[in-house]
Amino acid sequence: MLPRAAVQSLSLFSSDKVNESSITLSDEEIRSLAARFGSPLLVVDCEQVRRQYHALKAALPGVDLHYALKPLPHVAVVACLRDEGAFFDLATTGEVELVKAAGIAPDRCIHTHPIKRDSDIRDALRYGVNTFVVDNPEEVKKFARYRKRAELLVRVSFRSPNAVCDLSKKFGCEQGAVLSLIEQARALGVRVRGLSFHVGSQATEPSKYVEAINACVGLYGEALLAGLPALDVLDIGGGFPVSYNEAVMPIDEFCTPIRAALAHLPKHVRVIAEPGRFIAAPAAISVSTVMGKAKRNGSMWYYLDDGVYGSYSGQMFDHAKYPVRALKESTELFPSVLAGPTCDSIDVIDDNIMLPELEVGDLVVGRMMGAYTWASATDFNFFRRAKVVVVNEAPADSGRVVKLKTHR
Ligand SMILES: *Cc1c(COP(=O)(O)O)cnc(C)c1O
Repeated sequence: MLPRAAVQSLSLFSSDKVNESSITLSDEEIRSLAARFGSPLLVVDCEQVRRQYHALKAALPGVDLHYALKPLPHVAVVACLRDEGAFFDLATTGEVELVKAAGIAPDRCIHTHPIKRDSDIRDALRYGVNTFVVDNPEEVKKFARYRKRAELLVRVSFRSPNAVCDLSKKFGCEQGAVLSLIEQARALGVRVRGLSFHVGSQATEPSKYVEAINACVGLYGEALLAGLPALDVLDIGGGFPVSYNEAVMPIDEFCTPIRAALAHLPKHVRVIAEPGRFIAAPAAISVSTVMGKAKRNGSMWYYLDDGVYGSYSGQMFDHAKYPVRALKESTELFPSVLAGPTCDSIDVIDDNIMLPELEVGDLVVGRMMGAYTWASATDFNFFRRAKVVVVNEAPADSGRVVKLKTHR
């Protein structure tokens, strides 16, 4: 659980211009946050979390959205989604602890890690989560002793070589293995409720979902023909894309073919999804400070107090490239290098970026940095992870005063 640091409040002027895919703080507001809370910061905007949640909800009517905690496991995000009526997707005992602390009802949660220790299963069951995911016979066996309480989804693999992160390489069973896993579970007295898949994170086009949904519709029919109990849940996973430096399809357009494919499902099937990135990515910016500069081989090098071992870790683990800019107006830009603070030479955010001439103390802002950034940051070299500052915790219509909280 993330300890709560200072809780403070201050009034911010809500920015009038609303950028679809970015948090709505003005440069002045960002400067005042850095002055107040220090650097580096990860500024999380709950208004963005709500906006993304409702955009996906509108694009997938009737689909229950389970926020996958992994990309931004922060209690403020969880609490904000709780208030919007969201469901949750957990994979570890740490995530179970986090939703518990946020007062989430366990029947709003599923546990989707395909590979679990017995202790992971017991921790989730003890909290009251009773839907789990399996993708192999060894995992099915683990549920024999919990047959009275646990229900299963079988995760099927649909490879997506085009997705930035192909999650069906590591997890998921072959389509041909689905019926035998369901039969194995039935022989052990364990109920299988349905199927799940994850087409891969930051999916480039919706066709993989359509293909996977159609295959699952076929498998539901085959299970019935084989005399197995009717399956009544379909989990279409996460993967919904956001725009970093390149535009992606707007979410409603992206989901149009997915909606059409879901219409072929039998009416009794409850459809759920596990969005992570789509909700979290646009909800945070990184604010860091130039702590030194040097001219090397004709370019200016700026050393920030955050880097690829910190909030920019997604450049390594998530293959992401974030829109980064200096918080300084200038007409003249120079080819520059932006580096992180550690003593490792790999810690370079961008080795060819056009920037104004910066001074020690100037601020640099990375946008679209809510997903797979702070979550995978390290304290390498004793440069501590960015402090999280939460803005707009309460919905906008509840008043002009913006509550700020910092968390480590
Ligand atoms: C990571 C993960 C998600 C979230 O995926 P996004 O691509 O961030 O939407 C959902 N479900 C499972 C099982 C995951 O591992």
